[in-house]
Amino acid sequence: MIRDRFGRPVTGLRISVTEKCNLDCFYCHREGCLESRREMTADEVGKVVEVSREFGVRKIKLTGGEPLLRDDIVDVVRAVAGAGIGEVSMTTNGVLLSGVAHELAEAGLDRVNISLDTLDPRTFHKITGNGSVSDVFAGIDAALDAGLSPVKLNMVLLAGLNDHEVESMIAYTSKRGIVLQIIELLDTDGRVFSTYHRDLDDIERGLRSQAAAVRTRCWMQARKKYILQGGEVEVVRPMHNSEFCMHCTRLRLTADGYLKPCLMRNDNLVDVLSLVKTDDLDEARKAFAEAIARREPYFKGVAREARISGRV
Ligand code: SAM
Repeated sequence: MIRDRFGRPVTGLRISVTEKCNLDCFYCHREGCLESRREMTADEVGKVVEVSREFGVRKIKLTGGEPLLRDDIVDVVRAVAGAGIGEVSMTTNGVLLSGVAHELAEAGLDRVNISLDTLDPRTFHKITGNGSVSDVFAGIDAALDAGLSPVKLNMVLLAGLNDHEVESMIAYTSKRGIVLQIIELLDTDGRVFSTYHRDLDDIERGLRSQAAAVRTRCWMQARKKYILQGGEVEVVRPMHNSEFCMHCTRLRLTADGYLKPCLMRNDNLVDVLSLVKTDDLDEARKAFAEAIARREPYFKGVAREARISGRV
């Protein structure tokens, strides 16, 4: 296993398989990707994953855009799973999931994160611009039925929009054996951030007071996991959090085939798709080594957890 200059192993690859999306969430960071003109084939994605395995990658996350918009998404999953990686998961908005969950599981998808910020149809529409929350509910049921386990639900907390729904989300997920991930809004556009950013301190305090146990997921960006009676909640706090960055084990792959060392930067990408297209796997390995060498924590300085622990 290779470590970067900061001693961090790279065990996860987060792959944007398309930039297209069927929703238009107003806060979306689009995985930090710029507009692209090419898209990887399923076969090319599989080859990049094979190379990544040699560098210690054990977890693949397929994302987008909306991955389920790809007609060949089952082939993409099959190609990735065929590379013999430990875990293959997907982040999806769930709108199209009900029709394809079983096929994805058969192709080798292990689990899904479904993005759902609200249980309320009107709030859903305010956030996503289109789509129907009942399709997402159907997608969640199908994922559970297909054994894509654990199903995780991603809830980005937005001040004044869904921050009163935390308890109802916990009830909804606990009842179904789903893990809830409460995610702090990441600042990719100062205007949206200043209006909707919601601090998570009080929510974490509440979770801590009810929790039977609290765990720190060490190499998962030092995320806290709260084990509640009948449920589990993970809290993801990226903003100005050097602890988060110091425990980042991810590399990204953009939809147009560039290795991306950090969500927040686009000035240090490394082209790997051109090399895979010509089957130059030695050069593709060099591209991986270069991308790992370019990794550095985005947020540096005082660890947020240290500051929080004084208050909680
Ligand atoms: N379309 C898929 C989906 O909805 O899950 C995959 C792409 S989406 C960009 C991946 C995840 O990033 C979603 O869970 C979404 O909520 C989260 N996300 C997007 N913008 C964000 C932001 N500014 N801050 C925090 N999380 C964000």
